[in-house]
Amino acid sequence: MNDCCSQTGLESKIPKKLACPINQREYVQVPLKTLLHHIKEPWKYILKEQGYYFCNAEDCDVSYFAEDGLIINKSELRTPLSEKEKFEEKMICYCFGVSLVDAKRNPAIKAFVMQHTKLGNCACETSNPSGRCCLKDFP
Ligand SMILES: [Zn+2]
Repeated sequence: MNDCCSQTGLESKIPKKLACPINQREYVQVPLKTLLHHIKEPWKYILKEQGYYFCNAEDCDVSYFAEDGLIINKSELRTPLSEKEKFEEKMICYCFGVSLVDAKRNPAIKAFVMQHTKLGNCACETSNPSGRCCLKDFP
């Protein structure tokens, strides 16, 4: 049986986790869609169909990397990464624009975010550079 040209099953061939080429730690896959929303001038990249991953290590300059060895540094993003910033005003919820300071001052904000996440009103996949829900970043 030859299924090399079939597009179905491609998803499953992409590893769910891959090690960052710089810090060697494993990170989870992010949709290509996420990258397109955060990299500067995305038309300048050759973004083929493959696995993309988000390195959230504070001490690593890599933001995204791909199966083929492509590295996108944090300086190549339009969005400052909260994971890699030390200042308190950093954004933690990109969907509703909540900074770490906001979240610390007003615990009701977390309830608001939880409520609207439940209702499907968040947009983590595209708003958050990690492609994932921000609730884990709340204090
Ligand atoms: Zn890294």
